[in-house]
Amino acid sequence: AAASLADAVTVPASAELFARARRVTPGGVNSPVRAFRSVGGTPRFMVSGSGPRLTDADGRSYVDLVGSWGPMILGHAHPDVLAAVHAAASAGLSFGTPSPGEVALAEEIVARVPAVEQVRLVSSGTEATMSAIRLARGFTGRPLIVKFAGCYHGHVDSLLAAAGSGVATFGLPDSAGVTAATTAEVLVLPYNDLDAVRAAFAAAPGRIAAVITEAVAANMGVVPPAPGFNAGLAEVAHADGALLVSDEVMTGFRLGPAGMYGIDAAREGWSPDLFTFGKVIGGGLPVGAFGGRADVMALLAPDGPVYQAGTLSGNPVATAAGLATLRGLDDAAYARLDATSTAVRILADDALTAAGVPHRVQRVSNLFSIFFCDEPVQDYDAARRQDTAGYAAFFHAMLDAGVYLPPSAFEAWFVSTAHDDKAVDVIAKALPGAARAAA
Ligand code: PLP
Repeated sequence: AAASLADAVTVPASAELFARARRVTPGGVNSPVRAFRSVGGTPRFMVSGSGPRLTDADGRSYVDLVGSWGPMILGHAHPDVLAAVHAAASAGLSFGTPSPGEVALAEEIVARVPAVEQVRLVSSGTEATMSAIRLARGFTGRPLIVKFAGCYHGHVDSLLAAAGSGVATFGLPDSAGVTAATTAEVLVLPYNDLDAVRAAFAAAPGRIAAVITEAVAANMGVVPPAPGFNAGLAEVAHADGALLVSDEVMTGFRLGPAGMYGIDAAREGWSPDLFTFGKVIGGGLPVGAFGGRADVMALLAPDGPVYQAGTLSGNPVATAAGLATLRGLDDAAYARLDATSTAVRILADDALTAAGVPHRVQRVSNLFSIFFCDEPVQDYDAARRQDTAGYAAFFHAMLDAGVYLPPSAFEAWFVSTAHDDKAVDVIAKALPGAARAAA
C-alpha cells in the first residue's frame, strides 16, 4: 500500500537522481533511513531549504518536520548562521591548528551545561559516544558498558548491540561485521527498567565502566525516561564506581538551554559524569562533542593516556555554524519551539482521533513523536508493536500534501523556530486526509 501511495505523485527528477545514486552508492543513500525503505517510494532529493521549508529536485515544496534530524533548530538557511559560516569560510576552511571559534563554542557549551567542566569537539555524534565510552573505560579501568535496547548512540561497533527483549543479556551483534567479542562487553538492558540495571551491577560488581543512555530515548520514537529513571541510573552506577554517560546528541540544547540535564539532573541535584552532544551544536555542519567531569576529561591525550583525535575536529567553519545556532537559542526561541510543537502535536492528535486511528503522542519538552498503537510506550518492545504500515500510509499522504515527516515510524518529529503560522497551517490542512489514509 505504501509503495502505491508513494507513486500518487510523480517526482521524475528525484527518481532519476535516485537511479544514478544507486549505481554509485549502496542503496543510493549515505545514511540508510533516507532510502524510504520502511515507508516505500522514491526518496526526495532536496536541493534547497529556507526557514521551515525544503524544496526537492522536482520543485515541490515541503514543510519540514525532520530538520536534518535535529540540527536545523533555527530553520534552514538562517541568516545569522549563514553569515557566520560565510565569514568563517572566507577566512579559511581548516587550519589543523587550534583556532578561536572552537574555544568560543566550547565556552558556550560549558556555560550552558554547568556539569560540563571540560569539553572536546569532534565531528559527529558517533565519534562523541565512541570517545566517551573509551574514556569511561580508561578512567575506570573496567571493560563493560551498559546500554538500553532501542537507544541509538550512532554506529559505534559496540553500541550497535541493541538486541534484547526485556531480559538482561549479553548483547548479540545487531549489524553484520560487529564481532560477538565486541558486543560481549556490552550489556543490553530494557529501557526504563531500573531493576534490570541493579541486577546487572549485582552480577558484575566492579566490572562495569559506564551506563550510557539517551537522556530521553528518541530513536525508537520518543520514550521519556520514567520519573526517577535517569537519577536512578546515576545512583546505581555511582554506588559501584561506574560512570553515567548521558547521550544528549539529540536532546542537547533542543529541549532547553541545558538540554535534558536542565530538566531533570540540574533540578534534582544529581549529575551524569559525561555527556555527548551533536546535531544542534553544529547548526547543520558536522560537529559533535563529549565532555563532563574535569577529572575524567583530564585523562585524554595529550595530558592523559586515553587517545582521541580528529583531522577536522573543531573545524572553524563548523564551529561558527554551531556557535551562531546556540546564540540564536534564547528564551524566546525555546518558547517558540514549545508553542509550535504543542500546536502540531494537538493538530495531529485531533486528526488521528477523528479518523479513529489508534495512536499515542509522547514527548519531552518540544521533542515528540506519535506511535501508531494504543498503549503507552515505555520500551523498545512496546515501540515495535506499532502499526508501521499505517504510519507509511500517513507519511505518504502528508508528503503528497507538502509535509516532510520522518520516513520511519521510529523517529522523533522536529520543529524549528522558523515554523510560522503559515507552516503550521500547511500541516493542519494535510493532517485530516493523512489520518484517514492511515485508518
Ligand atoms: N546519539 C544519539 C542520541 C543520536 O540521536 C544520534 C544520531 O541520530 C547519534 C548519537 C549519532 O550521531 P551522528 O549521526 O552524528 O553520528
